[in-house]
Amino acid sequence: MADGSADDLQQQLNALAERKGMSVERLLREWIAAESAPENLSDSSFRTLVENNPDFIARFDRSRRYLYVNAALEQATGHTLAEHFGKTPLEMREPVDLNRFVYDHLQRVLESGETKHLTFAYPSEEGAHFELRLIPEMDVEGVIQSVLAISRDISHQKQMERRLYESEARYRAIVQSQLDMVCRYTPDTVLTFVNDAYCHFFQRTREELIGRSFLTTSPPDQHAAIWRRVEILRHDPSPEVALYRSVVPNGEELWIQWVDHGIVNEQGQVVEVQAVGRDVTKLRQLEDERVRSAALAAELAKEREVIELKNQFISMVSHEFRTPLGIIKTSDDLIRRYIDRMSPDQIEEHLDRISQQVVQMTQLLDDVLALDPTRANLFELNPQPIDVVDFCQSLVEHLQLLDNNQHPVLVEMRQQAGEVVADIRFLNRILSNLLSNAFKYSPPGSTVRLTIEQDQHDLIIEVQDQGIGIPEPDQAQIFEPFFRAKNVRTVSGTGLGLAIVRQHIEAHGGSITLASQPGQGTTFFVRLPL
Ligand code: ATP
Ligand code: MG
Repeated sequence: MADGSADDLQQQLNALAERKGMSVERLLREWIAAESAPENLSDSSFRTLVENNPDFIARFDRSRRYLYVNAALEQATGHTLAEHFGKTPLEMREPVDLNRFVYDHLQRVLESGETKHLTFAYPSEEGAHFELRLIPEMDVEGVIQSVLAISRDISHQKQMERRLYESEARYRAIVQSQLDMVCRYTPDTVLTFVNDAYCHFFQRTREELIGRSFLTTSPPDQHAAIWRRVEILRHDPSPEVALYRSVVPNGEELWIQWVDHGIVNEQGQVVEVQAVGRDVTKLRQLEDERVRSAALAAELAKEREVIELKNQFISMVSHEFRTPLGIIKTSDDLIRRYIDRMSPDQIEEHLDRISQQVVQMTQLLDDVLALDPTRANLFELNPQPIDVVDFCQSLVEHLQLLDNNQHPVLVEMRQQAGEVVADIRFLNRILSNLLSNAFKYSPPGSTVRLTIEQDQHDLIIEVQDQGIGIPEPDQAQIFEPFFRAKNVRTVSGTGLGLAIVRQHIEAHGGSITLASQPGQGTTFFVRLPL
């Protein structure tokens, strides 16, 4: 090892190995192991440790020549220990960049005597990174004898770091470029982060916003609600959707839908709130418009329904007039044609029939006019003192006559009803409808009961029959115009009477109810404020 050249070294080594009867390889390994084994490790265990280490390990002498390389490095370079031995990294050529890097830094370690921790990135090979530690080894006098190099491929680790950085950058870019507003604030409402969309919406710079409370852009009437929400978030960070107004620089108030949630630290305390907001002003306007047009549509539908009802009404009325008109026409024809052949009784009979039909038509006409809501004056009351007993008696007699006296009527005056102040036409309409129904829907001979009662405020009328009754499912609709129960069979009618009665009663603040059992009878209860 006198002149120090690599060839010289190699030759000496060969000679020595031959003399010892072992390979150069083995000689070197034994030599290196013996020289550097730390006190607490046996020779062989140290060797195993270094040899099998996945890190690349080398030792250099003071002239920066390889003294040792471990198996991992042999494999990586494709050169054995013997091929490395006595050469400098520069003499090893490949990989040129890395060898030059090692060579230069070995010099620095030798000069400074300090351990160096370095990373090397291959300029040629993207993503390839090495970590390199150069440790000076001193003798007892503190003179550097050799340098230990430990290197490791950290490409994978670097790649992971890079990916993390990229994904973070991407995330940040997403948040920044979001169309939605994103902000974070501390529980005292002071902003700590805002994205571009937030700045753009409020037309402020990031510097103007961060470090200030966002309440400055919120109308004061909402502040209490916002504080309440923040208070809730302190205990429960789970996200919630809420709608708030925000004031933009031109003074306009816009509706923002916010989704907020608490950001929790390691101790589980909510330290910040993150909120994502979207301008929903247009959406709300559309929604308002939708509600308005839905209301309009409903109104229109109602109007249509009214028109439809009126049409139905007209066809029904004309139909109802056709029957009595037909009867009148027949009787009239018969009298004209056969007057000289008819007895006075026969003539009288036809004239009676005519006047009966006229009465019926007049009644129908009254009903029709009463139902027309445009004739409001019909609802106007003309109250006058009436002797209830007299009035009821004569009304009942008149109706019984029309009924051919088929039903006995029991009129009962509870407590001295005596004189009341009421509108005759009004009472007449109510009672004649209820009583004629009672006659119409109960068998001949069954009794109809009319009860009149008066308390401090109201006149109470009850009309009870023992007729066919009203089936339970029909009872709810019985006061609707044109509605007739399923069990009327051949009994004729328009379904208008009760509708008229209820309209009148309700127009005067009264009420009408019923109790009925099919096959047993029906009772109507009327209450009229006096
Ligand atoms: P009109 O318009 O000629 O009076 P209507 O008697 O059929 O015809 P409403 O008086 O309005 O019409 O009565 C509505 C329906 O209620 C009747 O068709 C019938 O089904 C039922 N109804 C009314 N009163 C009674 C009653 N006392 N007993 C049984 N059913 C009744
Ligand atoms: Mg009726």
